[in-house]
Amino acid sequence: MSDAISLPSDADKTGRDFGEEELTLLREVIESGTLNCTKGTQVNAFERDFAARYGMPHARAVTSGTAAIHTAISAIDPEPGDEIITTAITDMGGLSPILYQGAIPIFADVDPVTLNVTADAVASRITSRTRAIIATHLFSNPCDMQGIMRIATAHGIPVIEDCAQAFLATDHGRLVGTIGAIGAFSLQQGKHMTTGEGGVVVTADPQLARWMTLFSDKAWGYGDPKPDHYFLALNYRMTDLQGAVARAQLAKLESVVARRRRTAEQMTALLAGTPGITLPRARPEATHAFWKYPLIVDPAVVEGGSDALGAALKANGVFCAPRYIQKPAFQCQVFTDRKTFGKSQFPYSHREREDGTKIVYDAAEYPGTMQGLERVVVLPWNERYTDEHVHFIARTVQAAVATLAVRPRVKRAPSAQATA
Ligand SMILES: *Cc1c(COP(=O)(O)O)cnc(C)c1O
Repeated sequence: MSDAISLPSDADKTGRDFGEEELTLLREVIESGTLNCTKGTQVNAFERDFAARYGMPHARAVTSGTAAIHTAISAIDPEPGDEIITTAITDMGGLSPILYQGAIPIFADVDPVTLNVTADAVASRITSRTRAIIATHLFSNPCDMQGIMRIATAHGIPVIEDCAQAFLATDHGRLVGTIGAIGAFSLQQGKHMTTGEGGVVVTADPQLARWMTLFSDKAWGYGDPKPDHYFLALNYRMTDLQGAVARAQLAKLESVVARRRRTAEQMTALLAGTPGITLPRARPEATHAFWKYPLIVDPAVVEGGSDALGAALKANGVFCAPRYIQKPAFQCQVFTDRKTFGKSQFPYSHREREDGTKIVYDAAEYPGTMQGLERVVVLPWNERYTDEHVHFIARTVQAAVATLAVRPRVKRAPSAQATA
């Protein structure tokens, strides 16, 4: 299309918000000569600020969203072979820590429109071995936390909220990440706020907080009368350079989310009624924070479905991800081949030796997951989108949908049939 314009990207300065605020704090760190968080002040201050923004008593900064999930799972302290219910539509960083802690991911099916796990699907996966539930608020659209918490509470199972994509999204007026036992966030380059790489966990539970602080720092009991390395743990400490950037980024988060919401609402108004397209929408009691703007495409209306629409959008200058992660996580080699620790297939093998039951991941059990992935086209979203950008994207989507519209089958006149 001749009127294609270039859109801000979260991969570089066109779509990221770094400036004097970050530089001033970074300069302080460099000039102090202390780049680590153990002796520095920035990570500590960031943890205080983040906890305060989330209204939680404890926040712990770590090196990535993956590290945040790992830290959270470690605090739940599963036995080898225990099960953790999660989603097959997520970043691998939300899943590999489960295996590293010796637990087995059990996938719950998702709603084919939101691509979030449902309370019913989670309930149907609970067994005597379930040790935790991970609720992943995909694209910033909150899961049904009341439904999930009801089930979790009834079974005495802690919920970890994966909020890597869901900064400042809310459910029933509460920030997601503060509803379950632990909220885990990513500060990777493409998230609402970023330190390039980074993560943070929040909790109201002092015991979980203590464990997570220990786990992210080799489980050494700093300040204790008889400190020791109390358990198996890693170094996931964030540097004070990242802490400086994190503080400055946190101060911008409100504005980032507000701008994303404003333009996303504009987009929703522009695309309302587009045939064959379902637009992203939070439940009435929840708020979306628009990390992405996913479209669900009905292939009965849009010829070729998400693949064709995605190709048409890309050809016309709108980058997008048809089918998001392409296939459910359980179809990735790490799970199909159980390639974990050497040839052991641990923790799957451990579990099978113990009680003879097998874990099987069968796509046929995941109709919502399969249909959701097949139909979704993920549009990037950005706080720097202007009215012009939004109109350009909307126009491009509408033009592509019109071109791909499945023609209604017209009844042919008898004469036409005769010549066929
Ligand atoms: C980004 C992301 C992660 C992993 O975060 P990293 O910082 O890349 O390790 C985990 N879960 C979800 C849902 C994510 O989007």
